[in-house]
Amino acid sequence: MPTQTIPQPIGRFAPSPTGELHLGSLTTALASFCHIKSIGGQWLLRIEDTDTERCDRQFTEQILMDLEVLGLHWDGDVIYQSERIDIYNDYLSGALRPLTYACQCSRKDLERYWAHEEEKHHHNEDINPLQPNRVRYPRHCVNASLDRQQHKLRIQLPDYHIGFNDGIQGIQWDNPQQTLGDMVVRRQDGMINYILAASIDDGLQKVTHIMRGLDILPMTTAQISILQAAHLPAIDHWYHLPLICNPDGQKLSKQNLAQPIDTRDPSRLITTALQLLQQPAVDKDTPANMLKQAIAQWDNTPLQGKQQLNSPD
Ligand code: GLU
Ligand code: ZN
Repeated sequence: MPTQTIPQPIGRFAPSPTGELHLGSLTTALASFCHIKSIGGQWLLRIEDTDTERCDRQFTEQILMDLEVLGLHWDGDVIYQSERIDIYNDYLSGALRPLTYACQCSRKDLERYWAHEEEKHHHNEDINPLQPNRVRYPRHCVNASLDRQQHKLRIQLPDYHIGFNDGIQGIQWDNPQQTLGDMVVRRQDGMINYILAASIDDGLQKVTHIMRGLDILPMTTAQISILQAAHLPAIDHWYHLPLICNPDGQKLSKQNLAQPIDTRDPSRLITTALQLLQQPAVDKDTPANMLKQAIAQWDNTPLQGKQQLNSPD
């Protein structure tokens, strides 16, 4: 019988360096690392720094140092999205060209339009009970053939349901056009939208397993559509991790000023993060040995169906 070679699993951690790692981003790093290593895979590190206004080189350095101290060693070279803008632009003018179009509608134009539509709706409620949907860009510019270099670019996302199996959240489906509309993929100033960059890189890096926070789940059907339109390999395995919340149930994020992790005691941090992730305890040891044990014991089951995990402090 011919033997079938199963491609090596490839996972990744893709932080945006808009701040230091906090307990939420650390658990994402740790979970994706342990999970992919537990199935014999590689763990790549990609710095998602296309947003030059919000990202900072100093945060990148700090993130790399924190991962090193914690024993979270990545495979291969770090990829920086800020160095790959030409690649994304090549996709926009190549495979993705038929789906993308230039748009000159300002936020003000759209606001005026929606206000007018809502006014109309108010008068005709019995004819059309559906509220105008402010997310769906009304496609004013879709056939205008405006200069692509002069204006922002939007992508036409499919207007049907797309489904995927999430290894933590179960079967998911969504209509990306309803949820996101024709989203902007490149701003007028040239800044590349992060889900476009992430989709292209996950495809080019041949990522097979994506484990990330639940906050990105609403983007996943858009990512699936972009990968398909760009003729890049589909992602076979999705896992959206429950969000880490503080005791008041608030999501830990940079926006609500989650404390940066303190790596002076990396072993303690690993213990805390594993506990949060509902994993069996590991013996206190060097980070490397603790991770070895955590990998051997890794189990997604306690996370399944959960949308939130509460941090002790
Ligand atoms: N860069 C994103 C973030 O830090 C993660 C994107 C992803 O994992 O796909 O929130
Ligand atoms: Zn427009």
